[in-house]
Amino acid sequence: MHDIPLHDRYRRRLNYLRVSITDRCNLRCVYCVPRDTIPRMSHRDILRYEEILRIVRIGVSLGITKIRITGGEPLVRKGLLPFLEELTRLEGLVDIALTTNAVRLQEYLEPLKAAGIKRLNISLDTLRRDRFARITGRDHFDQVWGAIEAAHALGFQPIKLNVVAMKGINDDEFRELAALTRQLPYHVRFIEYMPMGNPNLPGDPYLSNDQVRQRIEQEEKLVPVPPGSTDGPAQRFRYPGAPGEVGFISPLSHHFCDRCNRLRLTAGGKLRPCLLSNQEYDLITPLRAGASDADLRAVFLEGARLKPMAHGLIAGGKHVDARMSSIGG
Ligand code: SAM
Repeated sequence: MHDIPLHDRYRRRLNYLRVSITDRCNLRCVYCVPRDTIPRMSHRDILRYEEILRIVRIGVSLGITKIRITGGEPLVRKGLLPFLEELTRLEGLVDIALTTNAVRLQEYLEPLKAAGIKRLNISLDTLRRDRFARITGRDHFDQVWGAIEAAHALGFQPIKLNVVAMKGINDDEFRELAALTRQLPYHVRFIEYMPMGNPNLPGDPYLSNDQVRQRIEQEEKLVPVPPGSTDGPAQRFRYPGAPGEVGFISPLSHHFCDRCNRLRLTAGGKLRPCLLSNQEYDLITPLRAGASDADLRAVFLEGARLKPMAHGLIAGGKHVDARMSSIGG
């Protein structure tokens, strides 16, 4: 149970921790990492599971109630399942979710369910196999689609499909992707491309979500979904009568900094209060030097307190020089 709820200087309550458990990934998405040149962190520099659990426990004691496991690709790190089982046993956490590219998801579905993970976010930028290979650098579309269908059959709910909307790359597919929700209870969410990760991406693929929505609504308008108590930053809609939802996450055009409730724990053991701002607070060094829980708690509180009011791109930056894979998208 928490004793001091985490707040920042702007009175935002921070109760959501996104944890990157690895910087490694089995895909090379064009917008995320420069192809073939990604420097990998050494194993030594990556938090061990027991270190992550200790930090999460401290976070929970301060009011973190929601965790998302991400990466890199979380399903490539060995020992994930016992770690998740430990995590689900922590008292005070009400929500544990996983973000994955689903390449290895099929083999993990049953054990994930048994470990108590119900909520999956799956990255899927296209429904075309050849295009999938071009975007991700790997020919794994069939595996990913098979895993999505299997997750649905096993009762995972909700299944959120995250699409990075990109001009000239997948913008002719937005309607088709949104139309999945007419038959299936998936939540297809369009995310604005953020200029970070791969600084060498040719052209500017950014499209605002207003532009994306315009394209989707050419034939039929979407209707808003009434807000729920656990809503994140997505603006939620559905086609009339459809079982699924279409969401828009717009970190650039309609940023949600004023109600951002997130902190991030990077694979390298830094507390990062804002995805799009390079300010980080070191937890791994004191932790490995024998710091007490009280010392680590002080770092947590300081990092939270100093969370920036608005993210780096709003503050005038053009590119955030940081890798999503180690921070955790
Ligand atoms: N490997 C997992 C996956 O693919 O879902 C988790 C990590 S991945 C970095 C998390 C999310 O970040 C993915 O949905 C990915 O599309 C998104 N992402 C990465 N780089 C991005 C960028 N430059 N702009 C917008 N979204 C990005």
